[in-house]
Amino acid sequence: MNSAIDSGNLGTAGNPLRVAIVGSGPSGFYAAEALFKSPLTVRVDMLERLPVPFGLVRYGVAPDHPKLKQPTLVFDKIAQSPGFTFLGNVTVGRDVSLEQLRTSHHAILFACGAESDRRLGLSNEDIAGSHTATEFVGWYNGHPDYRDRSFDLSQEVAVIIGQGNVAIDVARILAKPIDELRGTDMAEHALDALAASRVRDIHLIGRRGPAQTSFTFKELRELGDLAGCVTIVSGNDLQLNSACLSELEDKTNFNAAKNVEIFQSWTSHRAAAAGKRIWFHFLQSPVGIAGNGRLDRITFERNRLTGPAFAQLAQGTGEMVDLDCGLLFRSIGYRGLPLPGVPYDSSRGVFPSTAGRIDGIADLYAAGWIKRGPSGIIGTNRADAVATVQSLLADLPHLDARPKSGAEGLCASLARCNLRVLSYGDWRRIDAEEQRRGAIVGKPREKITQLSDMLAVAAHSHNRAQEGQMALP
Ligand code: NAP
Repeated sequence: MNSAIDSGNLGTAGNPLRVAIVGSGPSGFYAAEALFKSPLTVRVDMLERLPVPFGLVRYGVAPDHPKLKQPTLVFDKIAQSPGFTFLGNVTVGRDVSLEQLRTSHHAILFACGAESDRRLGLSNEDIAGSHTATEFVGWYNGHPDYRDRSFDLSQEVAVIIGQGNVAIDVARILAKPIDELRGTDMAEHALDALAASRVRDIHLIGRRGPAQTSFTFKELRELGDLAGCVTIVSGNDLQLNSACLSELEDKTNFNAAKNVEIFQSWTSHRAAAAGKRIWFHFLQSPVGIAGNGRLDRITFERNRLTGPAFAQLAQGTGEMVDLDCGLLFRSIGYRGLPLPGVPYDSSRGVFPSTAGRIDGIADLYAAGWIKRGPSGIIGTNRADAVATVQSLLADLPHLDARPKSGAEGLCASLARCNLRVLSYGDWRRIDAEEQRRGAIVGKPREKITQLSDMLAVAAHSHNRAQEGQMALP
């Protein structure tokens, strides 16, 4: 077929623009939405390595923040768009190669997020008792990859390194009364373990100062309202240098000023004899993790801030301080993972791109955290995905315009490998079953946490529906 002849009709009913989106989190769904809003005829095939969609909204958002999961209602509507196909349980790079995708689709848009973590670079980082926040968050959210992790919650002292919103989630889940978590969709195994937790002192430790934390002030303020828990900040830590003061005076830095205000209001708090305590420490970097086979001490070096306002860096002073603890969560940010054939910036953990176009390969695009790194809230990904889709649509005249087989072609080859590909209908059956199980125990849902169980529920419900015994959602 002559592409020069066909290029004019790409994006019409006779030759729909077929885009493969890799990943089914917020940026993937927002990219699909932007594509469907274009005047072209578009087919979107969304590939997801798990059997179920929604990425970090399902597996990252804390269970006690259900409002933040509301975007799934929007995603559900997007999934009803004519021309949308969900291909769950398909791993790109393992079940489908990049070359296969480039053959079956006109463009590939990566929205696969940041699945790994930054490292501290310390020896003993992986000693027993030391975990990434990702593991803990995945565990309490019932992520199949993390459901079998265990955390020694018999420890009384837990340390969290990093001062961003993930660190706050970890601290809050450790500190919150268990009865306030029971009515959430937290995985049952996590509720059981947290109910027996003896963690009492939670230390949140940042390498820079109180004016440079990455917390959003609403999340920070919530820690101060937890029942049976006191937040503790030393007044000495709030002596700010002139660069910090000018940072706080900048109107665009409103969030940091609110954070400092909140810290100030906590300086009068004293450690209570009973209950839990969240301690904030600033200007300390971990330099040693020690223990005989399992963690029992972390050594921090005290820092001072150097550099101009908004570019202040932590510089070690040589002064050391030890903290005895049995449980450590490293919460210093996520990293995207490489994928065979796709350019990768290993220092940032992203697919390097310009305006969403992956550098060096014509028909590859990126949106969300794999494009810009792990920053922003869920809504940030909408504008980000729209910008990438604008680039993709502007490139239309340069794409290989020959008709492509899309999901149909892919599914045929996946079926030959005996891979069970889950549809959006399958997800709806899993969703209905999770909600049914949740209702029995007074939760919005009881997540199915094992891949084989998800596949079994999808297959079983599908068969029953086909036999007419069950109404499909
Ligand atoms: P983050 O906001 O980037 O925070 C990372 C923290 O780790 C910062 O305090 C950073 O300090 C510190 N850090 C980085 N490298 C370090 C090192 N080598 N040693 C010591 N500290 C180090 O990342 P995050 O908490 O993982 O959150 C990721 C994104 O998800 C953020 O945009 C966050 O707002 C979002 N999120 C939102 C919510 C919510 O809205 N409820 C909940 C969870 C996550 P420096 O500033 O000095 O680099």
